[in-house]
Amino acid sequence: MTKKAAVIGAGIGGIASALRLRHLGFDVEVFEAASKPGGKISEIRNEGFRFDTGPSLFTLPSLVNELFELFGKNPSDYFSYKALPVITKYFYDDGTEINAYNEPEMFANEIERKTSDSAEAVRKYLNDAETVYNLTANNFIFKPFELSTVFTKDFLRATLRINKLNTGKTMHEVNQSYFQDARTVQLFDRYATYNGSDPYQTPGTLAVIPHLEHNIGAFFPEKGMYDIVNSLYQLALDEGVQFHFSEKVNSVNLNASVAKGIVTEQGTYDYDLVISDVDIFTLYQHMLPGEEIPQKQLSQERSSSAMIFYWGVQGTHENLDVHNILFSKDYKKEFEKIFSEKAMPGDPTVYVFISRKAVESDAPDGHENWFVMVNTPANAGQDWDHLIEEARQNIIEKINRVLGIDIRKKILFEERLDPRSIESKTGSWKGSLYGNSSNNKFAAFLRHKNKTTKFKNLYFTGGSVHPGGGIPLCLASAKIMESKVKKDWKL
Ligand SMILES: Cc1cc2nc3c(=O)[nH]c(=O)nc-3n(C[C@H](O)[C@H](O)[C@H](O)COP(=O)(O)OP(=O)(O)OC[C@H]3O[C@@H](n4cnc5c(N)ncnc54)[C@H](O)[C@@H]3O)c2cc1C
Repeated sequence: MTKKAAVIGAGIGGIASALRLRHLGFDVEVFEAASKPGGKISEIRNEGFRFDTGPSLFTLPSLVNELFELFGKNPSDYFSYKALPVITKYFYDDGTEINAYNEPEMFANEIERKTSDSAEAVRKYLNDAETVYNLTANNFIFKPFELSTVFTKDFLRATLRINKLNTGKTMHEVNQSYFQDARTVQLFDRYATYNGSDPYQTPGTLAVIPHLEHNIGAFFPEKGMYDIVNSLYQLALDEGVQFHFSEKVNSVNLNASVAKGIVTEQGTYDYDLVISDVDIFTLYQHMLPGEEIPQKQLSQERSSSAMIFYWGVQGTHENLDVHNILFSKDYKKEFEKIFSEKAMPGDPTVYVFISRKAVESDAPDGHENWFVMVNTPANAGQDWDHLIEEARQNIIEKINRVLGIDIRKKILFEERLDPRSIESKTGSWKGSLYGNSSNNKFAAFLRHKNKTTKFKNLYFTGGSVHPGGGIPLCLASAKIMESKVKKDWKL
């Protein structure tokens, strides 16, 4: 008889896991508390505008394509994307504007033109980032992190070149060792925020992240970010995965630590295996009654969260691109506020994402859809109502000053997301965007595994477990989960 699997949560990790299990021959049903798939990857539509509400940066599209290819499908029949000519446009308080071109040589020359750093320094930095990626991807990203991985040739190769991995330095220190201009350093320091971390604390190994954007490329889906979810959801339906929306799972049914099924708000169901895409802390706290919380893993510092304002904006702004960063003057102070004081910086770095620049139908003619985001601490019960009003004021002043416009007059309507609503909408503990932060050397080793020996037939996927948060890593987590299932079920 065909074995049955339940997936809890239709985030990107859950959908990818459902597809991978379906491909292994399981009957798969996905239970999702919300009324639609995607979790943190979501969208809102209002007055002719469409906004991607969560992720906006899309790298490693091959990991999405792979899921279509598993079923012998041509990915472009479901999902298409394009390379962005400019990855990000950076604005500095001193008036400097840097275009991070997708083409590495153009980007290196732009840095040489606009800063005191050389194109050669950028080339070397990106080459070294590629080396680190090649040394680490197979050990830390695409495999379970456990003894059987540790004693492989690949791992040994990486540890023999440990100096290349910059584990003894912070990302900021690594960036300072390549560049002398504070603007270049700040540009590359920002990559720590790609997993919700602090460049002044996160290990230098994470200086690998720019490799993904600058060497492999930055892309954008032709129909916007939510199409990543929509197209994979469509594939899952075509392949016979069943979805139960608006059906919250209350608990995993465990019998002597063996997962036997799930209990939802609507009933009790038996399954041969259960995969959770729910934030691991939320799972232990609420859905595994009586099970001890693995304190070491789950007491780690959470990644940053965010405040986002979605503005329907009148007018078009030729000096802006799809991704725009308006940097703070004092980056160190900004991160100290977020991570040490758990407070909001007075001068935050403001990210303005305008998908209308890539997807014409995302706003009416003569208008733009602005997603305006600042990083925040994770939710620790701060007075968010007050902090949001204060931040909104600071953001508007910064936009007006740096871009020379009066944005307040152009805002037609506004919607918001903040750490509290991220937590309540997706179950992400403390509203963190990426699970635990990577603010120490051991963070990668302390993420919860995709399978533990403690439970039988229960697997973990998504951004709060190994290998971490962000779309590519969530897709990798599904892949690792699949390898565990294959091994456990001798498939
Ligand atoms: C504002 C923002 C910006 C981001 N920017 C980027 C970016 O640019 N690039 C990038 O790669 N990543 C980005 N991320 C991170 C990325 O969105 C996440 O890492 C990823 O989407 C997490 O996917 P997941 O599979 O862990 O599940 P989630 O998206 O967290 O989904 C979990 C799902 O489980 C459901 N659920 C929870 N509890 C239950 C229950 N009891 N029963 C049933 N269902 C339940 C939830 O409703 C949710 O749908 C961003 C995130 C946010 C919020």
